[in-house]
Amino acid sequence: MKDHVFYASLKATYPVIDRGEGVYLWDTSGKRYLDGCSGALVANIGHGVKEVADAIDRQLRRVAFAHRSQFTSGPLISLAELIAEMAPPGMNWVNFVSGGSEATETAMKMAREYYIERGKPAKYQVVARWQSYHGNSIGALSMSGHIGRRRRYAPMLVDFPHAVPAYCYRCPFDKRPENCALECAADIERAIVSAGPENVAAVIIEPVVGSSLGAVPAPDGYLQAVRDTCTKYDVLLIADEVMTGFGRTGANFGVDHWKVVPDMIVCAKGASGGYAPLGAVVLTDEVHRAFREGSGKFAHGFTYGGNPVAAAAGVAVLEYLKNHDLVNASLERGRYLMAGLKRLQESCSMVGDVRGMGLMTGIEFVSDRRTKEPFPVKSGVTDMVKSVAFSKGLILYPAPGCADGVRGDTVMVAPPLVIKDSEIDELLAIIEETLREIEARVPGLEKRT
Ligand code: PLP
Repeated sequence: MKDHVFYASLKATYPVIDRGEGVYLWDTSGKRYLDGCSGALVANIGHGVKEVADAIDRQLRRVAFAHRSQFTSGPLISLAELIAEMAPPGMNWVNFVSGGSEATETAMKMAREYYIERGKPAKYQVVARWQSYHGNSIGALSMSGHIGRRRRYAPMLVDFPHAVPAYCYRCPFDKRPENCALECAADIERAIVSAGPENVAAVIIEPVVGSSLGAVPAPDGYLQAVRDTCTKYDVLLIADEVMTGFGRTGANFGVDHWKVVPDMIVCAKGASGGYAPLGAVVLTDEVHRAFREGSGKFAHGFTYGGNPVAAAAGVAVLEYLKNHDLVNASLERGRYLMAGLKRLQESCSMVGDVRGMGLMTGIEFVSDRRTKEPFPVKSGVTDMVKSVAFSKGLILYPAPGCADGVRGDTVMVAPPLVIKDSEIDELLAIIEETLREIEARVPGLEKRT
């Protein structure tokens, strides 16, 4: 068959996907894969859920599209209600888009407009952190601090301030939990003060850093401290929950683990579990009030924002999540998975760190566990782990660049929240087999501790 698709990798050969059910996918050759990362931490409720297909089908047959400037729809109103119910207290308003980058881009513009509404038009900058990822469109990439992904586009990016990441395994201040005073949180304040608080509209943070660090949770006290700093300087706190939202970490949203209420939550992925392109910005009554009592407008949006079919998919997915108690399942199965990953860490010399929350976990690989020295970039360890596991029928999500934006090898293990313990055993066995094979390939590695 002739193939005219311009793929991300021009050298790769991609198997053709055929179908999915639960935590498994099959390609057209009949090979089965355990989806160990829910695609890209998307398929939270698993594959092939009939109730979602039926809901989409019903909506498609009624009406597929109506523009957001002309109509609202039943599914859209229901979805906003379901999301507001899941969100922290006082976060009752939802603006809809079609994905994560659109959502972070929207939050950035909403923060800017919020301060225009409040008569502070100088406030536009967004403080983000190095080794973060907020999306690939130019605004979202300007906030993202992943050097590897920014590099080629650097001349086109907006010059936003960046603070250090909260990354305890490689603490930028060389601290340990025993002697740490959350210097990483203080660095957010430093970034706001040096940019001039009168110029700063928002701080954006992933509560558990996803693809740029590989499932690194914020240390306790960090988000509370950043919340206080934002309040002190009249700056909005945006929680980027594109990966962490809707039960992935064992709570509705990542911020819930620390009982922090941000001003906006950005979400996508798990909102529709991959059944339709869907993203959203959830905002507080307070932010909403500024628009309502101000111009009465938020003049920003995309053609497919609020699409009724995507909304119907979102409603069916969130109802499934609720009816099957999958947020708790993520917490419980996450504990089981983490115990297995810790055993792997003990037995595999290339595993430097395992971390995560709920079913959002990561494994970082190092060439020397004592010094935490990363493998040379040219060894391509992340890719090697990903492709050996893939050949054995396990899909893992690569997160390279964790050490400094370029060096550092990590994969994320984040299966659908419907996974069973026996399937976690199968997943762990394939990871172990994969790492043994790679350790045997890298000379000297098996002797190190
Ligand atoms: N924000 C975070 C934390 C993400 O992990 C991602 C994607 O992985 C995005 C934003 C961008 O989302 P999308 O790829 O749907 O545009």
